[in-house]
Amino acid sequence: MRNKLFINKLYINGVWKYPVHGGTFDVINPATEEVIHQAPAASEEDVDEAVRAARNAFDQGPWPQMSGRERAYYLRAIANGIRAKLSELARIEVIDNGKPLPEAEWDIGDAAGCFDYYASLAEELDENPVEPIALADGRFTSKAVREPLGVAGAIIPWNYPLLMAAWKVAPALAAGCTVVLKPAALTSLTALELAAIADEARLPPGVLNVVTGSGAKAGQALIDHPGVDKLAFTGSGPVGSTVMAAAARDIKRVSLELGGKSPFIVFADSDIEKAVEWIMFGIFWNQGQVCSATSRVLVQEALYQPLLDRLAEESRKIKIGNGLEEGVLLGPLVSQGQLTQVLAGIDEARRDGAKVVTGGNKPAGFDKGYFLEPTVLADVPLDSRAWTEEFFGPVVCIKPFTDEVEAIRLANDSRFGLAAAVMSADDERCERVAAKLRAGIVWINCSQPTFTEAPWGGYKQSGIGRELGRWGLDNYLETKQITRYTSDEPWGWYLK
Ligand code: NAD
Repeated sequence: MRNKLFINKLYINGVWKYPVHGGTFDVINPATEEVIHQAPAASEEDVDEAVRAARNAFDQGPWPQMSGRERAYYLRAIANGIRAKLSELARIEVIDNGKPLPEAEWDIGDAAGCFDYYASLAEELDENPVEPIALADGRFTSKAVREPLGVAGAIIPWNYPLLMAAWKVAPALAAGCTVVLKPAALTSLTALELAAIADEARLPPGVLNVVTGSGAKAGQALIDHPGVDKLAFTGSGPVGSTVMAAAARDIKRVSLELGGKSPFIVFADSDIEKAVEWIMFGIFWNQGQVCSATSRVLVQEALYQPLLDRLAEESRKIKIGNGLEEGVLLGPLVSQGQLTQVLAGIDEARRDGAKVVTGGNKPAGFDKGYFLEPTVLADVPLDSRAWTEEFFGPVVCIKPFTDEVEAIRLANDSRFGLAAAVMSADDERCERVAAKLRAGIVWINCSQPTFTEAPWGGYKQSGIGRELGRWGLDNYLETKQITRYTSDEPWGWYLK
């Protein structure tokens, strides 16, 4: 059923099928600009078939009725399937997304770990299926049970293709939901591989369906479909609004993981080498195409200039290249469109008066590929888009601050609130600042490490709801109250 190298069919109801209208779209390797595949482009009819399959698997199938332990068996089989193909999947991710191979290997390992983690949470659901509720009125007894909420439509971006799929599919399946997954058109390959792994794990038909294609067609058809109970979306703010509006129309459940412009506050008592390392990790990992990237760095005055110098020096040393090459730490951006957008943003920052300390251009010696130098901007005006808007590229803005109050004010002065970081030798100060930062994730003395067990999501316009940890499971559960009248006395309202 598979073509030579990559999968060229949709996975619907446990069957591989070509889109009904036979549509395809180009898959481009961002390091070479070569078209490496024609991926299947799902039409509205294909999405409808996928949702019907998921609906049927939920309404008629065994999946939501299974014990958590039974579902955990499949989740672990998927985790093992991912692990068994780790190096193959990582290489696919590199040629599809552009990221350096060690980063892709890390992501794929994390994706497998995510399925294992939610297997354990599925088992825990069996342990506490019922929560007794103490009622003030002794004539009744009541209990709360948690049930899978139905069919989940999962829509994901291109920056962590398989990992973002795992963050949604694993908790949804653990909860007993069925899923239609729509990956980003720029990076569809590993989502189809996930379907193949689920198929090998003999997941019942219709429990996981994967439809690749454009957001405008396949994505829109999924969010508009009346057969979907829950929309789980990760992506940009504007599309998040569209998803939420569609959810509002039908009162679908909705969770949104959107963008950010996350601050990193570095106090003058910090170790300069550690600060430079974490600032770089916070903005150059995955070419800065990270929703939580700490792209606004605030440095206390006394450390500002030495830190800026060291950061520029180290940024210039980063090895840029094809992610498959040994030692490369910065691959290409995901697409020509993304590169054009980030370069335009840097030009606009220049015009706004920002100083390009290092980078800012396509690197010399690359005829092909969507490469961009690691870029450090200083003197960025507070109203420049470089300071206020997400670039989603390897571009960091550095600004000095005088004291704690000013640092917190500048950090929180954003419509986003996904993540924030603070570094200082003074633990109490770190805790104090962490408590005041308006963000869903706060890192102390580091930036970006992400753990499957801990909640992930944003304040303000960075999203609604939390993924990962037990919060991620709650996304896919409904709570039902079951109340019993236990008194022998008649109720006596109408029948006196
Ligand atoms: P995007 O919003 O353009 O696309 C995201 C997904 O939505 C894709 O699968 C796309 O095909 C689909 N889509 C587009 N239009 C649609 C429509 N009308 N209806 C339904 N689906 C539609 O975002 P992107 O460019 O893929 O990803 C980058 C963005 O994602 C950034 O803003 C980034 O901050 C955000 N992001 C957030 C997180 C997080 O956890 N908060 C993680 C990764 C990325």
